[in-house]
Amino acid sequence: MYNHAPEGYECHFCRIVAGLENEGWNYQSDVFWQTEHITALINTRWWNNNPGHALVIPNRHIENIYDLTPDIAIHVHEAARRVAIAFKHVYGCGGTSTRQHNEPAGYQEVFHKI
Ligand SMILES: [Zn+2]
Repeated sequence: MYNHAPEGYECHFCRIVAGLENEGWNYQSDVFWQTEHITALINTRWWNNNPGHALVIPNRHIENIYDLTPDIAIHVHEAARRVAIAFKHVYGCGGTSTRQHNEPAGYQEVFHKI
C-alpha cells in the first residue's frame, strides 16, 4: 500500500544487494556489512560530507515502512543499532541519529526501505 515505484522501476538498492555496481548511486566498495537479511553501506550519494553516514537496507525489496514486516524489521533495526555503536567507537561521536523516509512527500528517493 502507498507504493510509488513506477512501472518497470529498477531498484538501486536491489542492485547493490545483488552485488552489482550502481553508477552514480552506490558502489560495491561502499558495502561494509552484509548478512542474509540486511546490507549496510556507507552512503556516498547523499550526505557525502557527513562522515559516518550509512544506510542499512533489507536484502528483500520492500518499498517502505508500510510494507515492512516484523520478521525483517527486527534485522534492520538490530543492524542499525550495531552500526550506531560501531560509529561511536570509530568516530568517537557524542551521539548518533537514525532516519527513515517514506513516499516522495517524506523525502523517499529510492523506493526500497532504508
Ligand atoms: Zn529494492
